[in-house]
Amino acid sequence: MPAGRYAPSPSGDLHVGNLRTAVLAWLFARSTSRDFAVRIDDLDRVRPGAAERQVEDLAALGLDWDGSVLYQSTRRETYATAIDRLTSLGLTYECFCTRREILEAPSAPHRAPGAYPGTCRNLSRTERDLRRTERPAAIRLRAEVASWTVNDLLHGEVEADVDDLVLRRGDGTPAYNLTVVLDDAHQGVDQVVRGEDLLSSAPRQAYLAQLLGLPVPAYAHVPLALNAGGQRLAKRDGAVTLRALSERGIDVLRMIGDSLGFAGAAPADWLAEFDPARLPRGPWVVTPPATP
Ligand code: GLU
Repeated sequence: MPAGRYAPSPSGDLHVGNLRTAVLAWLFARSTSRDFAVRIDDLDRVRPGAAERQVEDLAALGLDWDGSVLYQSTRRETYATAIDRLTSLGLTYECFCTRREILEAPSAPHRAPGAYPGTCRNLSRTERDLRRTERPAAIRLRAEVASWTVNDLLHGEVEADVDDLVLRRGDGTPAYNLTVVLDDAHQGVDQVVRGEDLLSSAPRQAYLAQLLGLPVPAYAHVPLALNAGGQRLAKRDGAVTLRALSERGIDVLRMIGDSLGFAGAAPADWLAEFDPARLPRGPWVVTPPATP
């Protein structure tokens, strides 16, 4: 059964912007007769207890999902196997650069700032042996294209640079761009709905999926929530989580429903009202709600 999904990182409680994205992912999936999967991206940035609270909050909003919640930390073997496979195809190399060295390296012409300049792409065996004594290597993809294009349901054709992205960090942690591709395929996810902050990552993920012989999902990157100052909503903005708002007597479902123009009370009612073509396209500016 094809599926949509929501895949939070358990770094803390979800804020209303995250919750709204989860609701939208659920609406996109359920309104197209898809399964819905929940995955916890817990390879780093883990705060103890956060994953359980996130899952509780999703259920409290009235979202449901199929199968059990998948934790990335249980999938390390799959990630390692995929990296080995790319390596056997000659599509990886070891990289010894520090973040600072990358920032300070002159960027290659026609490349976006911050793209990996390829410093370690063609190291000789001797150089590599020497560098290995200095620090553990990260593994990078030897990308064979400079850019890739995806089709987004809300943004149309989106082209972005594909650089030699990291597949495994120097500390051994598999990188997000790899794990997301493997896990979406594993969970049968053929529809990825998530925040617009990840729009520019979609082309490199689609490229990677294609290299690994995996299907490329449909994408819909939805608007982010901003604070009154125009910055991305964050914990420091005060009462922005389900628990904090509910404690103040604020109806979070109503807040989210209003922001999407839904009259019904809960996600199950919104299914009948949901029309992707009528979604607000601009950011959701969250102003501190007055305590009723
Ligand atoms: N876990 C990622 C995050 O919370 C999102 C992964 C995804 O939706 O592709 O930023």
